[in-house]
Amino acid sequence: MAEKNIFTGVNSIKFNQRFKDDTDCLIYLSDLKWQDGYKCKRCGNDKFSMGRKPQNRRCTKCNYDESPTVGTLFEKLKFSVLIAFHIVFKISTKKKGMSSLELSNEFELRQKTCWSFKLKIQQAMSSSLNYPLNGTVHVDEFVIGGPETGKKGRSKGDKKLIVLAIEILGDGVGRAYAEMIEHASSKELGAFLRKHVSKEATIITDEWRGYSPLRKEFINLKQVPSKSGQNFKELHIHIMNIKGWLRGIHHHCSKERMQNYLNEYHFRYNRRSNMDTIFNVLLKRMVNYDKNTDITVAT
Ligand SMILES: [Zn+2]
Repeated sequence: MAEKNIFTGVNSIKFNQRFKDDTDCLIYLSDLKWQDGYKCKRCGNDKFSMGRKPQNRRCTKCNYDESPTVGTLFEKLKFSVLIAFHIVFKISTKKKGMSSLELSNEFELRQKTCWSFKLKIQQAMSSSLNYPLNGTVHVDEFVIGGPETGKKGRSKGDKKLIVLAIEILGDGVGRAYAEMIEHASSKELGAFLRKHVSKEATIITDEWRGYSPLRKEFINLKQVPSKSGQNFKELHIHIMNIKGWLRGIHHHCSKERMQNYLNEYHFRYNRRSNMDTIFNVLLKRMVNYDKNTDITVAT
């Protein structure tokens, strides 16, 4: 899609002017789907004519008629694509997103329907792993769904244990990632760092022994006393914010869904200075989701 056609901003009046009906949305999806050129899914041919519907493309060789939604997270919607666009817009641009209950009230849909579609959106919000954290990165674990104290032994019972990494900048915080883990073992913590933190980063953790063996691989990893969290202030503010968000909007979050919520939270958080393009980035990821290639836009 040409740069000038990308929808930018968070203004709902502009959004409503641009997307008035399903056709407007399908044209947009079609532009996103084939922005790098058309290629027939069945035979690989790169020539097409108009399909059954104006936004479809029909292969000139094998006649395969492809809609802009097939093979994307917009396939087989239980409501109009216009409503789907509204939901994606709200979830990407509202500071705290929206729960399935709120979506259900606002769009007069069954909550279960909203819940399923929101799960799809959350799938598209997972990290691309292309932009690991860098510079100074603080890492710690925390528990959701249990008492805040008694963390010493790092046993979690039936609670949700989460590891969090956050970039510390001179004048505030940068990006952050979080993942649900089982035991805070070196194996799990190492896997998390490998995915989300650059090898060159200065990683600061507390003195938990799970981090010690990782110093071989992450040569700039330093362990310091936590001093009841005083040495990790920004990180603990971030944890409070995640917990507040989960409590305020989602009330209960099952273990199965926790990672999705962590992905949703950080997708918005990591783009809080790039709100202009956040809607387009999310749409693009939803369109490209099943391809497993290039699902990210560098923002
Ligand atoms: Zn074909």
